[in-house]
Amino acid sequence: MAKRDYYEVLGVAKNASKAEIKKAYHKLALKYHPDRNPGDAEAEASFKEAAEAFGVLNDDDKRAQYDQFGHSGPGFGGAGFNNVEDIFSAFSEIFGGSSVFGDFFGGSTRTRTRGRRGASLRCAIELEFSDPVEPAEKTISLRRAETCDDCSGSGAKAGTKPSQCPQCQGAGVVMTSAGFFSMRSTCPRCHGRGEVITDPCPSCQGTGRKLKEREITLKVPAGIEDGMTLRIAGEGESGEQGGPPGDLLCEVHIRPHPLFKRAGADVYLELPIGFAQAALGAKLEVPTLRGRKELKVSGGTQGGQVLRMKGEGFPKLDGYGRGDQLVEVVVEVPSKLTKEQEKLLREYAETEEQNITPERKSFMDKFKKLFSK
Ligand SMILES: [Zn+2]
Ligand SMILES: [Zn+2]
Repeated sequence: MAKRDYYEVLGVAKNASKAEIKKAYHKLALKYHPDRNPGDAEAEASFKEAAEAFGVLNDDDKRAQYDQFGHSGPGFGGAGFNNVEDIFSAFSEIFGGSSVFGDFFGGSTRTRTRGRRGASLRCAIELEFSDPVEPAEKTISLRRAETCDDCSGSGAKAGTKPSQCPQCQGAGVVMTSAGFFSMRSTCPRCHGRGEVITDPCPSCQGTGRKLKEREITLKVPAGIEDGMTLRIAGEGESGEQGGPPGDLLCEVHIRPHPLFKRAGADVYLELPIGFAQAALGAKLEVPTLRGRKELKVSGGTQGGQVLRMKGEGFPKLDGYGRGDQLVEVVVEVPSKLTKEQEKLLREYAETEEQNITPERKSFMDKFKKLFSK
């Protein structure tokens, strides 16, 4: 991939002063800062690109090299940053010391490395089919890493403080030489924090966090559907070094129902009725999510016909209105007849021969045509 000119990346002139370069980088780093653009890969790439350009142009030797040889100059091949954390470490004097950036890092000018966000946790809840008729609360229990109370997350034993990292003398970065270039990289001993714990907190073994059992009450909105995930912000694991907590993601499973099926806010029900009821019409009691309701089946109802009971479905997730209950009529033919029923039916059949329904007449016409060729 062709690399953009470093001056172009920062939007400065070839003869820009160090102060101008620093100012331009400040602006870009703010704009593309990962905290401002969470999950935005393009912003992250721009953030890295600006950091790389600044890393070269802010260093007199590297800048002279670059001016002479451009990107093909010796040593520029691996000068990029793969990791956003490395950028924070490498330019800690900018990210940690500036009042502008201080806001991003919890206001602490001492922060070398951004506090890491806590992990998100996953859980699952199971609901009965008709639970989403109303908003509900579900309590779940989970184990999560939380900030240790004894050391307030510092990891240092009460009454002691972390001491300066001996490997980087508190800078959080170390210089490694690659060819005649020296590169800054995150200190492996303190992971960029600039300090190490000499007297670890016995309660959390110096990790700053402890596993705790928690009961959390979730608000489940009405109309929630099977397979949806509830996101509860900030109820995941605690962050490290003052980082924000992760989220809790809770997947919803809804048990099937012996009679109902669901599609969005609508509920489906198959309703078997006798063929005499279908022919003559009837008032029937049918189950709904909210108890028994009367359904009127008009005379001449056909099998497979769907009757709509308005507003008898689930509340819609957006809070506006409800779905319907759709009742599919299944006309049943009796498999056994009493003598009396058989006699009546035979009499009925004789009259049926004489009064052919329009639909059967149309079918018979097509049937005859099919074999008349
Ligand atoms: Zn502790
Ligand atoms: Zn160190």
